[in-house]
Amino acid sequence: MSKFDTIAHFINGEHIDTQSGRYADVYNPALGEPIARVALGTAEDVNTAVAAASAAFPAWSATPPLARARVLFKYLQLCQQHVDDFAAMITREHGKTFADAQGEVARGIEMVEFAVGIPQLLKGEFTDQIARGIDAWSMRQALGVVAGITPFNFPVMVPMWMFPVAIACGNTFILKPSERDPSASLLHARLLAEAGLPKGVFNVIQGDKVTVDALLDHADVQAISFVGSTPIAEYIYARGCAKGKRVQALGGAKNHMVVMPDADMNMTVDALIGAAYGSAGERCMAISVVVAVGDAGDKLMGALAERTSALKIRDGMASDAEMGPVVSALAKQRIEKLITEGVEQGATLVVDGRNCVVPGRENGFFVGGTLFDHVTAEMSIYKEEIFGPVLCVMRAPDITTAINLINANEYGNGVAIYTRDGGVAREFVRQIQIGMVGVNVPLPVPMAFNSFGGWKRSMFGDHHAYGPEGVRFYTRHKAVMQRWPNTASAGVEFAFPQMK
Ligand code: NAD
Repeated sequence: MSKFDTIAHFINGEHIDTQSGRYADVYNPALGEPIARVALGTAEDVNTAVAAASAAFPAWSATPPLARARVLFKYLQLCQQHVDDFAAMITREHGKTFADAQGEVARGIEMVEFAVGIPQLLKGEFTDQIARGIDAWSMRQALGVVAGITPFNFPVMVPMWMFPVAIACGNTFILKPSERDPSASLLHARLLAEAGLPKGVFNVIQGDKVTVDALLDHADVQAISFVGSTPIAEYIYARGCAKGKRVQALGGAKNHMVVMPDADMNMTVDALIGAAYGSAGERCMAISVVVAVGDAGDKLMGALAERTSALKIRDGMASDAEMGPVVSALAKQRIEKLITEGVEQGATLVVDGRNCVVPGRENGFFVGGTLFDHVTAEMSIYKEEIFGPVLCVMRAPDITTAINLINANEYGNGVAIYTRDGGVAREFVRQIQIGMVGVNVPLPVPMAFNSFGGWKRSMFGDHHAYGPEGVRFYTRHKAVMQRWPNTASAGVEFAFPQMK
């Protein structure tokens, strides 16, 4: 790929450039330089994509679920053959390590493994003889054209939270990937076409706010799935709902790990290093705050500081890399500014990741692993989602104080507790106001056959993402009653019918 290559839309089976003449640079964050440009779609481009998806809907929704599943089976095989191609694209445009990118692809493939079960998942309920001579059943039908708007941090997996299930249910789909790492969207398009998906069923529209607004306002888009930061999620939810659409909008996070004094500290430190610094902290389920109860903080800090300082920070393609760069120069600047604010507001900076330079990659957007101790709830490093390799340690005298602190936080995506005490863990699970909870599991990201979603300002909408919730989100429930003329007529009924 050269910096003059254009990453285009994919509409009705064709690669199409934007009508706008607007483009954004796509960077390799390890090199700190542009490697391609991406088209930024207009309302006209969106109209073209929606028209293609609308035209494809009648035939695709009428295709038997098993036939749809067979296309997805083929796509599943192709994805398995292209894991490393996807992973290399992720590392090149996002920056995460190649091994981490392979893991992302594997978690995305899981979604297809779930979606191929769609004939079973779409089965309704049937009641024989609900009244004399009458049967009743329920069925779920596709919505029509649905769209997905996705963030930069999982350019393969998060789109796959959406389109495999949406398409399996009989919808046609428009993906608006992040403009920062858009290439993988076109590999999905190619593989789906190779698998035999009819033209217009899966489309990609590249772009930014202009493109997103056109999708939100388009009368023929029935539903929007969004994953990204909280302010944008809230905006998408409000504007999409005002236009009468079904919307699920997953937002940002501030995930805590409570460490009890009885926890296995070696296991806890291993978990924390991976969960805080994996993918340079750019995961919506990353642990960014430790709440150390009692003397757990004193037991943790030595090993945590040592391991944080020793992180191997490299270009994500280096075989020994443990952490790559953050996504952009702006992200690096923002994270370093927050670290400076943490110091100014009185937190103890134990390991400082500012001014990190990687030999041979001097222009890359690297931030080193950063560790703060004695962080308090008023500090901006606690209140804001940093979305970088910064771990904040707070101290709490007891578990009740820890639970109250977490429940008062505006975000509610993920949380973990490390302890050997089953009773404490059980009470924690029951009382915590968070959507996904791990007990001695740092990143409790549900697998494809469960569903994913946060509480509070980490999610706007009713249905969580993928799994059974995804099937409900992408279908409408219909209730049917039938009677045939060979049953005796009950005559005219003016009163509201009741069972006799
Ligand atoms: P972002 O909100 O900046 O962008 C997400 C998408 O929205 C992109 O496709 C972008 O083009 C579009 N967008 C950006 N600004 C817009 C605007 N003003 N109007 C309309 N559309 C706009 O998020 P990001 O920086 O790409 O991703 C990181 C964020 O995503 C973090 O906050 C992270 O916690 C969150 N995230 C959440 C989850 C989750 O499941 N809850 C998962 C992954 C990431």
